[in-house]
Amino acid sequence: MRRAVCPGSFDPVTNGHIDIFERASHMFDELIISVFYNPGKDKAMFTMEERVEMLREATKHIPNVRVTSFSGLLNEFCKQEKAPFIVRGLRAFSDFEYEFQRALLIKSIDNKLETVFIMTNAQYSYVSSSGVRELSCFNGQIKDLVPPCVEKKIKERMANK
Ligand code: ADP
Repeated sequence: MRRAVCPGSFDPVTNGHIDIFERASHMFDELIISVFYNPGKDKAMFTMEERVEMLREATKHIPNVRVTSFSGLLNEFCKQEKAPFIVRGLRAFSDFEYEFQRALLIKSIDNKLETVFIMTNAQYSYVSSSGVRELSCFNGQIKDLVPPCVEKKIKERMANK
């Protein structure tokens, strides 16, 4: 079985992420989407549980996807799940340097783990979770950037502020 892990913060999941999941789902037998705790990103909008819940709802149309979360090293998670592939999305040059370093670091720990990059869909090349969080703070329009369940959750969150 060709199994791949799609790790990220997904705070929150956007249409750009969904596009990557849909395309990756055709390349692998099983795609494990995992919310990772990122100590460098401590200003989270949603808890890990909320992010998992939104991801499950937003990916229910993709049959070979499993959503989970993990607080630890990506290499450990891949070993635990018997997944030799990591899928990451690539937007602009700014993503490249970070992703390049990250992929090499992962490979230095486990040479058999391959990171596969999927180029963003031009339509979503400007979409980011941080942009969505910023827009949300100022009641900006996010309808075309995130799945409906995420838009609903953000609206509820803002209404209760
Ligand atoms: P991380 O905190 O690990 O960078 P993110 O949730 O920000 O996690 O992103 C997860 C992955 O999705 C990363 O590889 C990122 O480059 C990719 N990604 C984010 N937004 C888009 C987009 N609009 N198009 C394609 N890939 C994207």
